[in-house]
Amino acid sequence: MASPSPAPARGLLAENVLLFHWSDDLVAHRLRQVREYVLAQSRHLHREDFIVVHPRDLHLLFEAYDRFFFEGLCGNALEGQSLSFRLSSRMTKTGGKTTRFTSRTGAVSYEISVAVNMLFDSFEEDSRSVTVCGIECTNRFAGLQRIFEHELVHLIEMLCWGESDCSAARFQGITARHFRHTAHTHNLITRREQAAEAGIRVGSMVSFAFEGRTYKGRVNRVTKRVTVLVEDAAGQLFSDGKRYRVFYVPIGSLRLADPA
Ligand SMILES: [Zn+2]
Repeated sequence: MASPSPAPARGLLAENVLLFHWSDDLVAHRLRQVREYVLAQSRHLHREDFIVVHPRDLHLLFEAYDRFFFEGLCGNALEGQSLSFRLSSRMTKTGGKTTRFTSRTGAVSYEISVAVNMLFDSFEEDSRSVTVCGIECTNRFAGLQRIFEHELVHLIEMLCWGESDCSAARFQGITARHFRHTAHTHNLITRREQAAEAGIRVGSMVSFAFEGRTYKGRVNRVTKRVTVLVEDAAGQLFSDGKRYRVFYVPIGSLRLADPA
């Protein structure tokens, strides 16, 4: 009996990514083409330090990479299975995520999501430099490109080999040859770091304005927003026996206050 072989489109893509070998100049040229294509086509991204991004922009990135790096083989290798794109503001550590879903009826679909909160927290005028996949990124679009390249290779591996692992040699070989990645991690600025830099950590006394009043309280948790407990006789009872009102405040709206 013949052993199972990959479907032709996926086999072609697998062969293409394993044999890929371009010069630094050609890679740099194609990366510029991707950037120009997306910035020209997008209704939301008008400059490298964009302030608005839409899931449709991830679709444009897919089109551009597929066209300029993979001769349209990624689109073909989907073989009619659906690929959707999502912007996530919940991911606090990873830059992106690629998921393969199988429905109850056995239909397979894929989703690429990108963490936008970290992209927006990084690349501010006074923020420290950022590397994504080992490459120094000087603007938000460059950061988005590196995250997308990483996720696209996850998708390619899932299509060609049914599974994907960015800590393994095959993955790292593909990202190094195609995009010159030297790492599979990023050091984008996280909310926790942003908060720590502002001196705001769990236990800090902070003040903030809300509906025309200034409140003072203690930081209880730092995630997407900072949870601040303000002592209030009408508030919730906490384990320390005191009552607090709970506020969720963006870091930028908090000031460090003198300890009570
Ligand atoms: Zn990964």
